[in-house]
Amino acid sequence: MNLSTANHHIPLNDGNSIPIIGLGTYSDPRPHVPGKTFIAVKTAIDEGYRHIDGAYVYRNEHEVGEAIREKVAEGKVKREEIFYCGKLWSTDHDPEMVRPALERTLQTLKLDYIDLYIIEMPMAFKPGEEFYPTDENGRVIYHKSNLCATWEVECHPYFTQTKLLKFCQQHDIVIVAYSPLGTCRNPLWVNVSSPPLLKDELLTLLGKKYNKTQAQIVLRFDIQRGLVVIPKSTTPERIKENFQIFDFSLTEEEMKDIEALNKNERFVEMLMWSDHPEYPFHDEY
Ligand code: NDP
Repeated sequence: MNLSTANHHIPLNDGNSIPIIGLGTYSDPRPHVPGKTFIAVKTAIDEGYRHIDGAYVYRNEHEVGEAIREKVAEGKVKREEIFYCGKLWSTDHDPEMVRPALERTLQTLKLDYIDLYIIEMPMAFKPGEEFYPTDENGRVIYHKSNLCATWEVECHPYFTQTKLLKFCQQHDIVIVAYSPLGTCRNPLWVNVSSPPLLKDELLTLLGKKYNKTQAQIVLRFDIQRGLVVIPKSTTPERIKENFQIFDFSLTEEEMKDIEALNKNERFVEMLMWSDHPEYPFHDEY
């Protein structure tokens, strides 16, 4: 695969293609600063990113849409050069709710179409206005749904998903690796018992060798395995840094060494919903 900043699409089996690196836009709504995502998306597009990963539930999809529209209006990109992935939230799983939810996303973005629409999580919650409907004990109210779609997969050097990757590659399926940098360290929903990925000794050593950061080594490792990555950052320098991964490559031995870091541990475990009948992580993939 000959990847470059200008051309880093990988083909999909329906004739379309997906840029191998995208900007993640998850933003914790509590400390969320209005306008931060708008700047992040504009910085990313200026830098050469052509893939943006967002969701209605991130509560900043309007900023993503505004940034894309502004860059299209400026003539920096054409709409068809941007690949936007949106997500169906857990309170909208009933089949008749899917189309209105997608239309709401389009209205929020103020765009005519999106390029990919995926199920955010396989666990359905009670439909309604609340993203996290709760009972009198503060527990999220689950909902029964008929799940018949695919789902994204956490993937990084501490959770390499070798078996799943092999299966998908044999069947011509592209994996998008969320939380490729090991996500943030918010103990409310992140498994912080696993050490921070970006402080890993081997990644630091390889970073020194290539004059790259640990994040760049991780992202290069992933794309060299054929994974699409969607690192999130609202820090302009990091958005730029995360895109500078096309000017070096890791040797076969280094790829194997990084793969051996696998701990089979997820950062995004969502144990608080592990009693949901559709909780996905009891199964091996
Ligand atoms: P990431 O692994 O992308 O890590 C994001 C964290 O790393 C942020 O705290 C960011 O900080 C920091 N960071 C970014 N770049 C660097 C760098 N170069 N050096 C050091 N730190 C850095 O985590 P996410 O969980 O956000 O995953 C990425 C995206 O995947 C999400 O934003 C979302 O779009 C998608 N996702 C989808 C899920 C699903 O269920 N479908 C689940 C989880 C994620 P800062 O912003 O301050 O720079």
